[in-house]
Amino acid sequence: MEGDRIEEVTLVHSPVDEISHLALDIGGSLIKMVYFSTSREQPIDKTQNNSSRDSHGGVSRGSKDGRLLNGRLYFLKFETSKINECLDFISSKQLHYRGHQHCGFPASDKNIIKATGGGAFKFADLFKEKLGISLDKVEEMSSLVSGANFLLKAVPSEAFTYVNGQRNYVQIDHNDLYPYLLVNIGSGVSMIKVDGDGKYERVSGTSVGGGTFWGLGKLLTKCKSFDDLLEMSHQGNNRVIDMLVGDIYGGMDYLKIGLSSTAIASSFGKAVSENRELEEYRPEDVARSLLRMISNNIGQIAYLNALRFGLKKIFFGGFFIRGHAYTMDTISVAVDFWSKGEAKAMFLRHEGFLGALGAFMNYQLVEEFPDSIRLMGEKTRDPLVGDLTDNGVIECCVQASN
Ligand code: ADP
Repeated sequence: MEGDRIEEVTLVHSPVDEISHLALDIGGSLIKMVYFSTSREQPIDKTQNNSSRDSHGGVSRGSKDGRLLNGRLYFLKFETSKINECLDFISSKQLHYRGHQHCGFPASDKNIIKATGGGAFKFADLFKEKLGISLDKVEEMSSLVSGANFLLKAVPSEAFTYVNGQRNYVQIDHNDLYPYLLVNIGSGVSMIKVDGDGKYERVSGTSVGGGTFWGLGKLLTKCKSFDDLLEMSHQGNNRVIDMLVGDIYGGMDYLKIGLSSTAIASSFGKAVSENRELEEYRPEDVARSLLRMISNNIGQIAYLNALRFGLKKIFFGGFFIRGHAYTMDTISVAVDFWSKGEAKAMFLRHEGFLGALGAFMNYQLVEEFPDSIRLMGEKTRDPLVGDLTDNGVIECCVQASN
């Protein structure tokens, strides 16, 4: 249950913690929230020099009057359809104004919070009415790009490939990151060509995305939650419903064009020739075919766009992925197949929070110091070695001006 997970996380910070800089990404399906909290029990390192080593041995650049604050970045999500839970949460924790002036950050207007996603427009009045908060809107694509750039540069082992059930972490060369294609699979899908910090273009997209999987899946399987649907797909067998090359070629491969007998010729195609009602199919098999159809399609469109612009790197984010093995495997196979092994799909450990993190980065303190957040993986409760496909916490160090 969503609420349970949220409680588990919020218990981590004590009543004396100081919270600041709440940012929201209010999407069609989910609200993603990021906020920073310092703990009074944690020492604040004011002795850091302008150029000293951080915990990873990297250079932590200080500004002449900046200071480093230890704290935690909290990541939470809520279903957009239950937006009141999100409002209640903000209100009960007083996230919108607690500690803004005390954290060591420049004082910000307590009634204004950064927000991105369509919901920042749609629900602006609701936030004003219920909490007296004005949403300072941050452009959605720009937030996704800032979030992705930040993660790829600041978090060691953020990106990984997924091949034959195996994750292989990719070391990102900061000098060779751009250009890349960012594929964000939310309710719908955006494909963004990223050429640098703040330099990007949304080059493509598709309406067949996470919302399609969840919406169609719900109708076809009567399943009650997204996680149940994912779990069902895990147990299913798509060959029961998909028409395979072998079904058409009498069990043979179609070698001349490089298609094996097990390749899908037509998603859901078997349902046409078999005289079976929906109820006669196992929901698990339906879920599997659906997941495969959508993931395959996105992988293919992504590769074609990478090809269109000569992009060698393709990163996939968005909450549709959920670090789910079968989803990542299907996308990886699609990219591999269409690129004839030339391109590899890469996934992000903080996949669902790109937009929220990007909006957070938009606070002035971060804008002034673009590389000012240091993530200290080794000390985390929900460490950087794990995924952030749900709610979680990252211990970090933020540089703030006086
Ligand atoms: P958006 O900003 O459009 O809401 P997200 O990146 O949050 O996009 O992804 C939304 C998609 O994530 C949904 O369409 C669904 O496929 C998937 N998803 C993952 N977890 C959940 C959940 N708990 N509830 C609803 N959808 C979920």
